[in-house]
Amino acid sequence: MICLAKYRLILDKDNSNKYYVKSEENSICPVCGCCELKVIGSRKRGALQGDGETIILIIRRLRCRNCLRIHHELPDILVPYKRYAGTVIEAILDGTVTEVCCENSSIFRIKRWFAEISEYIAGCLCAIAARPISELKTWWEMQPAGWPELSGLW
Ligand SMILES: [Zn+2]
Repeated sequence: MICLAKYRLILDKDNSNKYYVKSEENSICPVCGCCELKVIGSRKRGALQGDGETIILIIRRLRCRNCLRIHHELPDILVPYKRYAGTVIEAILDGTVTEVCCENSSIFRIKRWFAEISEYIAGCLCAIAARPISELKTWWEMQPAGWPELSGLW
């Protein structure tokens, strides 16, 4: 899976709940780092919104020309493997749950999932913070064009 930060959502002409995700990034393979990915199709991905509506996103399927693995481009409004949009999950975790239309059992499961994964996320952030700044700079410079400029940090 490839998470997109720069993209546009293009509304389908015939369906007001359906959007095409148009990437504005050059995706790279998260497995081998190859920049040559071929579009091999698309698939639907639903996202439950805070108002209870579901929107359908059409996301691209890409095959890496090097390792042949298939990846999907997910816009950052989605959380991988979750039915709810990222804003709904954020509202639940922030405690502003009165603003979202969501079952109590779903709220419980999302909080439990985050409690289970939060230690892992904290470990990842600590591992990144512990790396030498020169290594992070080298990694950042390898990223495709369009990534934010962080030259002031180095
Ligand atoms: Zn690859």
